[in-house]
Parts: sequence; structure tokens; C-alpha cells
Amino acid sequence: MTETTHLEHPQAHLLRTDRFPHIWCPTCGIGTVVKCFIDAIDKAKMDYDKMAIVSGIGCTGRVAGYVKLDSYHTTHGRAIPFATGLKLANRDLKVVVFSGDGDLSAIGGNHLIHAARRNMDIMVVCVNNFIYGMTGGQAAPTTPQPANTSTTPHGAFEPPFSLPSLLEACGAVYIARWTSLHVRRLTKSLTEALLKPGFSFVEAVAPCSTLYARRNRLGSGFDLMKFYHDHSRIEHDCDTSQLAIDYQKTIKVGKFLDIERPTWQELSERQLLTALGDDYYRAAEVKAAQQGEKDHVKA
Ligand code: SF4
Repeated sequence: MTETTHLEHPQAHLLRTDRFPHIWCPTCGIGTVVKCFIDAIDKAKMDYDKMAIVSGIGCTGRVAGYVKLDSYHTTHGRAIPFATGLKLANRDLKVVVFSGDGDLSAIGGNHLIHAARRNMDIMVVCVNNFIYGMTGGQAAPTTPQPANTSTTPHGAFEPPFSLPSLLEACGAVYIARWTSLHVRRLTKSLTEALLKPGFSFVEAVAPCSTLYARRNRLGSGFDLMKFYHDHSRIEHDCDTSQLAIDYQKTIKVGKFLDIERPTWQELSERQLLTALGDDYYRAAEVKAAQQGEKDHVKA
């Protein structure tokens, strides 16, 4: 009789395996990025009870539902304001937004730029698949010219966003980009971004294998890995204005920015202290003081 051995997935402690099988297509890079993220959480020795993950809508938007942390699957483009609210309500939380390029830079574009401008203390992971994957492969703000998509059958002609350049201009303090081939390097950047105070941004390039790569003759699965292998160039500290992604040309990857500047929370407290002096108390301190008084009375 054949014996069956059941092996537990090595990342089962942080995966909601009861929700599997997941919805992602075979050869999609999103799963690889999730694997790197879970490894990064453990490498950074994060306290799972002090983390929250927020996603918007789309293929990558499903990530929050598969990772076993406090998870929120929000409406389209609204992951960042939701995450901001979580952070403001509980400054001890590490809040991560994990979503796609369409959700973050199109529908949620305004939230993205203003969270970076404010240096809101959240981490944003963007899986850039170059199109809208879940809704049929339409052109997105990140589609390279002149890629073929379902809404640009004769070639995309709109200039795409270069997300690292956009976010440096807005004020992010940590920016890195890798492809889903660069598993160890992506994990390292995700680890650093988890530990970085302020607005950190990691772009993971993973063209939609079903609706983008095949349509643009990049093949699928192994072909895509080979493409990244042959067409990625590591350029740490590269000027972010030089990071545009051209159609089927070399993709520059690396860690481009790692700087310090005050977070929104620090700036707001500094301003309130200046304006109000001793009259300024943080809500948490007031609550703690009130609790202390109650305990004193009871004793
Ligand atoms: S449609 Fe594209 S992005 Fe979505 S799961 Fe499939 S391969 Fe990935």
C-alpha cells in the first residue's frame, strides 16, 4: 500500500491555507512576491500581533486575504487611506499596503502621492503587472509604450508612470524595485522596508503572464524568468528619473533611495507642541492617565 505523507507548507504559519486554492493563474508572479514578503516578516522579526495588511481591488488585491495577519480588503484605490486610518488609530502597528499598479497608481493615485508627500508611516508593496489583470487586461498607467493590451490592440501610446520617480518626487523615504525573479534581493528590500519608519515603497515587476506577457510575445512562466534574467540590470542608487520601463528593454532594478525625514506623526506632534505647549497631550497619554487615576481610586 502506498503511504501518503502530508507536509506542511513552510510558510503555513502566515498563510490562510483554508482559503486555498488561490485565484492566481499558473506562472503569475504575485505568489512569489507574497513568499518573499512572508520571509521578510520573519527576517525582520515582526510581531504578528502588531501588523496589519491592507489591499485594494485586483489580482494583487487578493493578497490581504491570503496572509494570516489582521487583513483588510478595501474598495478600489482606497487601500492607502484605510491604512493611514489604521496607523493614526494605533501608532504601534506596522501597516502594510499590498496592491497592484492599477489600484495604487490609477484609481488610488491621489492617495499614493499624498501619503508619500506626508511621509505617512506605512509600507507600500506594488506588484506592477503592467495592466489591469483581473478585469480583462486593459492598459494601465504603467503599461509600456507600445505594448499590446485589450484596450490598445494597436499599441499603447500614453507615456507610463515610472513609480520610483513619481514617489521620490512626492517624498517617499525608501524606494526599491525588483522583478519576481530576484527572490533574495526582493526579500531583503521588503525586510528593510518593514523596518523603515516613514513611507517606504517596493515595486515588484511581474507582468501579467496571462493577459500581458503572452499578448506581447514574452511567453509565460520560464520564458518570463529568462526574460528578467537577460533584461534586468542592478543599479543601486540610480537616479530615479532614469528608471522608466521601456517596452521589452532592460529593466533597472535595485535599491534607489533610503533617506530620513520626519514622518507625518512626528511633524504633527512637533507642530501641536509648538502651538499648544503644555496644553498638548496625546490622546493615548490622556487615556493612560485617566486609567491610572481610576486604578488609584480603586486601590
Ligand atoms: S490575470 Fe494576470 S495578474 Fe491576474 S493572476 Fe492571472 S497572471 Fe496574475
